[in-house]
Amino acid sequence: MNSKSLYQEVILDHNKKPRNYGTLDHASHHAVGHNPLCGDHLDIALNLKGEHIDSIAFQGESCAICKASASMMTTVVKGKTRKDAETLIKEFRDMATGTLNLDAEHHLGRLTVFAGVRDLPTRVKCAILPWHTLHAALNSVTTTSTEAEDDPMHAAIGDA
Ligand code: ZN
Repeated sequence: MNSKSLYQEVILDHNKKPRNYGTLDHASHHAVGHNPLCGDHLDIALNLKGEHIDSIAFQGESCAICKASASMMTTVVKGKTRKDAETLIKEFRDMATGTLNLDAEHHLGRLTVFAGVRDLPTRVKCAILPWHTLHAALNSVTTTSTEAEDDPMHAAIGDA
């Protein structure tokens, strides 16, 4: 299967059956993310047990790319440490914006199916929003936007 059809397959599958979709009781960390350019709106809740992400859930209204990215993200970061999750957040962002060397060592695994969004400037923020919102949740920032001026990721994402 070539990378384009694999990408379409993954997007369709995660939209039909989003993983970890819903809310969490007694979430220790929570954040809401917006991508005004597309209208994506995500709510991410998680429970940290020590340094590990013990459980995570998302819900919201978003386009297919955003939803698939969120769904896949929850399956990948569940059970990981906060530090490992932050590494993935950075690598995913760099991949989506085209600054990550995919031939060098990274931890993205099957998340590389989203590498193609770097060629779709209007979709980059859709794919990044869940990761961006997870970063906010882990750092106890309750609302975030891909367009916020004080957003630490704003400069890195640029005006793509
Ligand atoms: Zn979107």
